[in-house]
Amino acid sequence: MITPEKLQIFEQEMRAVGEDLREFGLLIDECPDKLPLYSERPSLHLINRMMIPPEFGGEPIVTIGSEKYYGLSCIERAAAIEQLAYGDAGVFLGSPGASMSGIIINELADSQQKERFYSRFLKAPSWTFFALSEPSKGSDATAIQTKALPNLDGSFILNGEKYFIGNGCRADMGLVFAQTNQTPLGIQVFLVDTSVAGFNAVPLDTMGVRAVQLSHLTFANLHIKEEQVLGKHLSRAKRGFWGALQTFHRMRPGVAALALGVAQAAYNYLLTQRRNFNTLEKHQLEQLELRLIMTRSLIRYAAMEIDTDTNKGYLASLGKVQASQLAEEVTQVAIDCLGPGSMYEHPLLNKWYRDARAFEFMEGTTNIQKVNLFQAYITGKMSYA
Ligand SMILES: Cc1cc2nc3c(=O)[nH]c(=O)nc-3n(C[C@H](O)[C@H](O)[C@H](O)COP(=O)(O)OP(=O)(O)OC[C@H]3O[C@@H](n4cnc5c(N)ncnc54)[C@H](O)[C@@H]3O)c2cc1C
Repeated sequence: MITPEKLQIFEQEMRAVGEDLREFGLLIDECPDKLPLYSERPSLHLINRMMIPPEFGGEPIVTIGSEKYYGLSCIERAAAIEQLAYGDAGVFLGSPGASMSGIIINELADSQQKERFYSRFLKAPSWTFFALSEPSKGSDATAIQTKALPNLDGSFILNGEKYFIGNGCRADMGLVFAQTNQTPLGIQVFLVDTSVAGFNAVPLDTMGVRAVQLSHLTFANLHIKEEQVLGKHLSRAKRGFWGALQTFHRMRPGVAALALGVAQAAYNYLLTQRRNFNTLEKHQLEQLELRLIMTRSLIRYAAMEIDTDTNKGYLASLGKVQASQLAEEVTQVAIDCLGPGSMYEHPLLNKWYRDARAFEFMEGTTNIQKVNLFQAYITGKMSYA
């Protein structure tokens, strides 16, 4: 476990990387397809090698004394992502690297699959995607319609489509969730190479976190070999959708940290742009500042708890609800305080305002997080005491 002192040093190093992302964030917001042109920048190189375990050739993203940090624990990711999002959430999300898929790979893949996945980043910056959502199935993920029909030789034929998939059109490989049969354990996860026949991806035009180039993916008779079934060495109950569900808890503190980073950036920016506030505004700012501190504590507490027990995933749901709401509120307050022309006069604020509204949907909406919380409550995992 990282100590508070080391966490502070870790954060400072990540803040510097975030500052570099800020330098070209607005440019990429305007032209998302230009992001790969920046892939040689040290900041993108660092993100590209985040979350690669040392046994697969990973290098630390931060070294403090004899301690090496790879971004493999929830607490490291929550702290790093907040600082990177403080710089630019869109560019961070649009960067090369293992990203959300890395968390699932780390938990469910066998050693050959890990080798195949991680080795790409070691050669050159490489993008990945994580494809669960479909045009008509988002929150209701167990009802996805993409199908992977098994052949007698153990291979599969993939048909279907995925929607809102981050980095889908620039990725070299990614994870695709598909139904192999109509049973509850039928959803399997496949490690798919985007260069194969039958794969197509087109970017979608979006308002927030534009750098991530949300994409529409289609699979037409795409052939998948048996070794591409993620975690085929595990029992059916431990791999597939149900196995991945456990890993979602590990992603959530990071998504909450993204929203917190944007909220903090907008708050700090407001204070640099306006010095004098009336009593009502001062009161509002004090409350926001307290909520920023509280939300950070909650996210970090959730991350540390999940690092030792994934059953505590409901804590991250709580953090995500708070952080995404806070990001929306802070950006709104900043815009109100800076006057009617603020959306035109402050391009960064304009961007944060749009970015903040994307977090509500990423990795489960507020309603879905509340369903998680309710389930934790009625099953006794969470209590008021
Ligand atoms: C910036 C961004 C990045 C994304 N990246 C990815 C990605 O990389 N990979 C990927 O697979 N997906 C990704 N998504 C998609 C995201 O996961 C979905 O948008 C999300 O799951 C919601 O699904 P939906 O948009 O279909 O909305 P719906 O599920 O149709 O929900 C619409 C509304 O109904 C409410 N609702 C739905 N079901 C319930 C319920 N049971 N109880 C109460 N209320 C309910 C929701 O809260 C919401 O308000 C991304 C989305 C965004 C915005």
